[in-house]
Amino acid sequence: MTVPLIERYRDRLQVPSDAEVVTLYEGSTPLIEAPRLSERIGARILLKFEGLNPTGSFKDRGMTMAVTMAKAEGAEAVICASTGNTAASASAYAARAGLHGVVIVPEGKIAAGKLAQSLMHGAKVISLKGNFDQALEIVRDLTEKHPIALVNSINPHRLEGQKTAAFEICDELDGPPDALSIPVGNGGNVTAYWKGFREYDTSPLLYGFQAEGAAPIVRGERVEKPETVASAIRIGNPARWKEAESAISESGGAIEMVTDRQILDAYRFVASEDGVFCEPSCAASLAGLIEYGLPVADDGKTPETVVCVLTGHGLKDPDTAISEGPEVVTCEADSEVVADAVFGAGS
Ligand SMILES: *Cc1c(COP(=O)(O)O)cnc(C)c1O
Repeated sequence: MTVPLIERYRDRLQVPSDAEVVTLYEGSTPLIEAPRLSERIGARILLKFEGLNPTGSFKDRGMTMAVTMAKAEGAEAVICASTGNTAASASAYAARAGLHGVVIVPEGKIAAGKLAQSLMHGAKVISLKGNFDQALEIVRDLTEKHPIALVNSINPHRLEGQKTAAFEICDELDGPPDALSIPVGNGGNVTAYWKGFREYDTSPLLYGFQAEGAAPIVRGERVEKPETVASAIRIGNPARWKEAESAISESGGAIEMVTDRQILDAYRFVASEDGVFCEPSCAASLAGLIEYGLPVADDGKTPETVVCVLTGHGLKDPDTAISEGPEVVTCEADSEVVADAVFGAGS
């Protein structure tokens, strides 16, 4: 039976019992075995495929909470700054709740699928001549001065919802994995996973990955003009910087960066070898393991089971997929020509 996330973990989420739950049946995503990646990395790799949430990213876990609470508190509108997935999710949950949705995205930098979603759900989409970090500053300012609820991950309800992914992993494995590998943008998700694992009295190693052109935490300084093909983690000044750093260091893990080329190679590998299509940002969690090897715990043990969080669906960003994939073969409508293309030399 499909259960709304808030109902599944109601005893661990602070939702007033009389609040109307705003849900699209998020969460309960599968952990998928990845035999080819496992072989390449040398550990049992499980993919927590968050792309199978209703709007195609993990943001829905936080959004069911944030919008449920906004509605319970009498809000009539919600707003967020977004690299795309928060916009798609906020737009869908606002529509579901009968609230106005407003999303501010960096001009020209948002993947086609995410823009399409926001528009179809009827949100007001504002394309900012600036980057995500500037969009977030403006949204913070607007919500201080106007009656509109902020649903970015600085909203604490978002992290409450997102911590449930850690519960699901432990419930399904009957205990924690040895390590968790995750892409890091604003740092909200890694912070939420750590919260979830701690509430279950567990502490897997957290291994976070940023993109080389947008790696403020790894470099220890803000990045003024973040650049990477992994648009969901194109963040120069993470909103949850300190929390993300503490989560990773308390776990005994590490945060590193990977290049766009490494991200794209891992993105293609997991799609073509293990059959799972994620968006480029997620592949940072795979590229990091391929590049740096497995993290080693304080006791010197190497993890045997590693969960990689695939934060969003590959269909979000068709343009990157089409430019990275193999060539399309065009043929005359003739059986021999097609046979040659299918079975002939070079096929
Ligand atoms: C939002 C997002 C991230 C980054 O998560 P943070 O909480 O900002 O660190 C990574 N991948 C995808 C697909 C996202 O949508």
